[in-house]
Amino acid sequence: MKIKHPYKCDGCLRLKGENESRWYLCLAKVVDPVTGDPEYIDGFALIPWDDKRSDDPDVLQHLCSADCCMKSLGKWLSVKDLVFKELLSSPVAEEMLRGELTSR
Ligand SMILES: [Zn+2]
Repeated sequence: MKIKHPYKCDGCLRLKGENESRWYLCLAKVVDPVTGDPEYIDGFALIPWDDKRSDDPDVLQHLCSADCCMKSLGKWLSVKDLVFKELLSSPVAEEMLRGELTSR
């Protein structure tokens, strides 16, 4: 199958060769295995490369290797960690934690 436009790895910017199949897609949503409904998840989902899905709007990243997947996961975790720390240090969170502690 001829690739209409070459894909570029969102990790290292390497171009995908026509016959390279060991790439990965990082998805913003996954299909519920029971109902078949696509569901948005606040998570990090990887699937092996699939030509039919590579242009789907739910594909966040095209990744060329396990190494680029690990780096991408590391970035995602860093962002989540920052959000988590920020939430914990907010006045609302402090109030909630205080309330939680005093109600025991
Ligand atoms: Zn890469």
